[in-house]
Amino acid sequence: MKMRLKIIGIAALPLLAVAGLWTVLRSSQSHVPEYVLRVPLPPVGGAVGLPVIEGPPDASRPLVVIDAGHGGHDPGASGSGGLREKDLTLALVKAVRDALLEDGRVRVALTRADDRFLVLDERSGIARRMGADLFISVHADAADNVDANGATVYTLSDTASDTVAQRLAARENRADVVNGVPLGGKSDAVSSILVDLSRRDMAANSVRFSDLVLRESNGKLQFHTNPQRQAGFVVLKSLDMPSVLIEAGYISNDDNARLLENDTWRRQFAQGIASAIEIFLARQMQQPG
Ligand code: ZN
Repeated sequence: MKMRLKIIGIAALPLLAVAGLWTVLRSSQSHVPEYVLRVPLPPVGGAVGLPVIEGPPDASRPLVVIDAGHGGHDPGASGSGGLREKDLTLALVKAVRDALLEDGRVRVALTRADDRFLVLDERSGIARRMGADLFISVHADAADNVDANGATVYTLSDTASDTVAQRLAARENRADVVNGVPLGGKSDAVSSILVDLSRRDMAANSVRFSDLVLRESNGKLQFHTNPQRQAGFVVLKSLDMPSVLIEAGYISNDDNARLLENDTWRRQFAQGIASAIEIFLARQMQQPG
């Protein structure tokens, strides 16, 4: 009995298959697909579009490009109450932009003015393509130690100034993969000399700007006990312009998180940074080359 059922079953298989195929064909003719998934992709090999430049309509004025860390599918660090680093950084860079526009001394562009994802290379890449005179990336730190608090200004170094800086750089760099520095068709020997000179020059200028941030934010912004550090942040690996990464405070510290969310505090933060930017760029203009 079992055997007979099996044989009938096998004999019926081709018939079932044909019937099934016919049903599929019929339904594919009579039904348009219910869902169409459209994923916007950048043009192949193309770079992301450049942001608008705001401020005085005078191309001879210096340009600062300010980058809000994280964005889109990368929320960055998170704090209590659903606080996300990507939202805080966006609010902070907008506050700095507004402070600069109010003063009207320099031109300013934001790498992102909304909640979008940019790979790390694109961030400094945008600044480089725009010929920026200064690049600043703004972040908010997180630490296991909830008492850790205050702002830190980071400049680039191959060797991190301490293990905390090293761990932070590793975390921030995780957003994408490192690409090298494009040097066109120059020979390796010339390239390495250029890289070395350029790196030293930019490193010195970046530290000068970092000094100004501390000076101009004195009394406006509370700093970490060790506020000037170095680490290998991908976003700072540009040889074309001075670059710093500012961790505005610790999202993991309740007091800091409250400040980072506060409009008045953000304006204060913005005034200190804006003032440092204006002084730094004015000095750069005085000593061209
Ligand atoms: Zn970050």
